[in-house]
Amino acid sequence: MQADARTAWFRTLGQLTLVLAAALVFGLMVGQPWSALTVAALAVVGWHYWRLHDVLRRLTSRRRLAPAHGRGVWNELDRLLFRGQTEMRTRKRRLLAMLRAYRAAADVLPDAVVVVERNSQRVLWFNAAATPLLGLRHPAHRNASLAGSLQPLAVAQWLASGRNAEPMNDVASPANPALRLRLRLLPYSEELWLLIARDITQTTHLEQMRRDFVANVSHELRTPLTVIHGYLEMLDDGDVRETAPMLDEMRRQSQRMTRLVEDLLTLSRLEARDALADEPVAMAPMLSSLRREAEALSQGRHRIHVEDTAQVDLQGAGKELHSAFSNLVSNAVRYTPEGGDISVCFTHDADGGATLSVRDSGHGIPATHLPRLTERFYRVSTSRSRDTGGTGLGLAIVKHVLGLHGARLDIASEVGKGSRFACRFDSARVLPRTPHAPADLSP
Ligand code: ADP
Repeated sequence: MQADARTAWFRTLGQLTLVLAAALVFGLMVGQPWSALTVAALAVVGWHYWRLHDVLRRLTSRRRLAPAHGRGVWNELDRLLFRGQTEMRTRKRRLLAMLRAYRAAADVLPDAVVVVERNSQRVLWFNAAATPLLGLRHPAHRNASLAGSLQPLAVAQWLASGRNAEPMNDVASPANPALRLRLRLLPYSEELWLLIARDITQTTHLEQMRRDFVANVSHELRTPLTVIHGYLEMLDDGDVRETAPMLDEMRRQSQRMTRLVEDLLTLSRLEARDALADEPVAMAPMLSSLRREAEALSQGRHRIHVEDTAQVDLQGAGKELHSAFSNLVSNAVRYTPEGGDISVCFTHDADGGATLSVRDSGHGIPATHLPRLTERFYRVSTSRSRDTGGTGLGLAIVKHVLGLHGARLDIASEVGKGSRFACRFDSARVLPRTPHAPADLSP
């Protein structure tokens, strides 16, 4: 209790005692002490009830009444309540101002933001951008089911994955099919989710233009290159000693350019597709073919080892998987000095998945380069890549092919000791092996 309140309390007790004492004296004087005391007590109780009523009236009044003046416990209580009320009002005003500021900020966001109640999956709140992007309107969609409100977008299954929901990329807006959206679900508390929809129409358009441009340029370059390459091959440098090295270099460069164009076209084709062919891929012939390619590239300069302990096949696109694996094998041969070891292993993993790994005892890659290795044209050493005939696109192709199979590429490497590139497929991609022609894995 504060000092003021304590003083008021003692003062009120003093007043009560005085009134009762005065009533007793008066009662004794008139010969009716009990009656006088009773009347005085009733008067005191009545007065206190009246003050209580007054305080309650102030508390419930909508108008702001000035605080009471004077002394005594009721006036003190009145002042304390008035102070509490004023502080509460100020806090409420501040909170409201903050809430308005947050709402105003949310409304100028270019992204649609929707607060969703997790259990019922109902829309609790949305900002202004949710109307043009997702077609949500007040009050119709307040408390409406999210999946129902976003139709024809198929989000029910997506919402079911909750915390693990991967972003939905490049989907048509339910409000305007010309708009392309990227949807993300962010669970931010036990009960609430945040759905964020971003307009990626322009980015998608630019990305499409870039892809088309690369695909068209590569395509256009293909024919003249084939012609140049063909004529260069036909040119007989027989007796002309001076021009022979030049012709050799021209042939090498035209071959390199052809490979580059082919790799660019392969990447463009992969990018243009959401999914690839889905067929059983026989791994025994695949491994035999990888062995032949490694041997042809190595020309006896390396020890090549192929191991197949998986005894399973894969489900996917055979041609693209072959292209990815053979890129890894080609890298292993190209980045391993003469006399090194190269091994290709296909194993069945404990979790039911399967791994194809290509290991070499070559130059190795410094750890700082590993995260960027699958970017297009990213090279650890440009000169080494060029010398070995690399295009800088091999690992980008591998990453794309694996991505389209829901698989991942794990890279481990140590400078001077070698590298291991492992393609990990999960169990959904693994099939029991069907009998094929026996695999040719013999050295
Ligand atoms: P490139 O055609 O240049 O080989 P890739 O995309 O296949 O392009 O590989 C990117 C880079 O990663 C290469 O330039 C090379 O520096 C490095 N690299 C790839 N595989 C290996 C490997 N087995 N050993 C060492 N470095 C490698």
